[in-house]
Amino acid sequence: MGHHIDAIVTAVQAGDTVTLDGLSVEHADAGYRLETPDATLDGLSEAALSDTLADYDDYATNWYFWTNVVGESSPQRRAYLRWVEGADERAVTDRYEALRDGGIHCEWGQLLVTVTADDHGERSYDLRHVDDADADADELDTYHEPLAARQLATYDEKGRYRPLKTGANLAGGWVFPELDARDLVEAVGTFYPASVPNWYREQEGTLDIEHWEDTIGRQTGMYSVIDTWNRGDGHEHVNWVAEACCDDSQCVKRREWQYDDETDLDIDGGTGAFPCREPCSLVIAASRKWTRLEGEETHTYEFELTPSEKQQVEDIIEAVADDRIDDIREADVYEGANRYRARFLRAKLFDEDGNLCGVSTDDE
Ligand code: SF4
Repeated sequence: MGHHIDAIVTAVQAGDTVTLDGLSVEHADAGYRLETPDATLDGLSEAALSDTLADYDDYATNWYFWTNVVGESSPQRRAYLRWVEGADERAVTDRYEALRDGGIHCEWGQLLVTVTADDHGERSYDLRHVDDADADADELDTYHEPLAARQLATYDEKGRYRPLKTGANLAGGWVFPELDARDLVEAVGTFYPASVPNWYREQEGTLDIEHWEDTIGRQTGMYSVIDTWNRGDGHEHVNWVAEACCDDSQCVKRREWQYDDETDLDIDGGTGAFPCREPCSLVIAASRKWTRLEGEETHTYEFELTPSEKQQVEDIIEAVADDRIDDIREADVYEGANRYRARFLRAKLFDEDGNLCGVSTDDE
């Protein structure tokens, strides 16, 4: 008889009611009572209880895993692990079938978690980049130590430093093939710090959100942002900040902060699995710069461009904003942001001081 069955018998003998995910076992006057969604058995002897539990082994190992392996010591870890395998939505039989047959997958930012179970219901977690979903584990660099995630999260695939841990530019090519429950949560938290606790608080309705105006107001020297940007249609500038930085294409968090308690931004917060509770330091640093720029008055300049040249300037801005520059090949001369096309435009339109059409940037 498995130790999971012994553990259930011991628990009910001690007077506890064993109950989880459709399984219920208790000690009553007439013997033991066992209930699953498929059957209810009353008046069982200890031996009969053990035999019957063996017939419902998946329920028994499921109880053991959540009670004795995961436990209750960290409610957020437990809630996250249950979310990973859809334990609150999927019945044990259906869930175990999936856990044995290729596993249950879920995405967390750019992470893909696959959970499988062995014959004893012991879970094993495979963690990799979503883009490596179909890759053979042999083709990827293997890691076992959760803290190795720190190094993997430092640079993007072009080797550039990632200032924002939740930026949508996590590099792939690695796998943690068999983490246990605790190490999975630690690795996930190393890739995306505080993502599990904030997700959990959101589930519990206790996520405390710090809106733009409160956060900026707390920053030394940032009152000028509020002064500069709150004139007229106050939150328009903040819409642009959110569109520039917090879009799903840039950051995997779901922005929950708004302009202030009463004013929502017009930009959607995105579809991320876990929330963003306050403007991050990258957004604050960028806003400092934008404040200065937005304080300038507009000027009227006069340039003469052909329609294609105007279109090309727009294409270049689009390509830079969408980080597509490296994807535009030298031979793609039909692309406005192609390097030769840009060099041709510069050769034709810039004077020796780099002024577009010879028009000086500053007032003469
Ligand atoms: S403020 Fe925006 S960019 Fe920064 S972490 Fe939150 S959602 Fe991402």
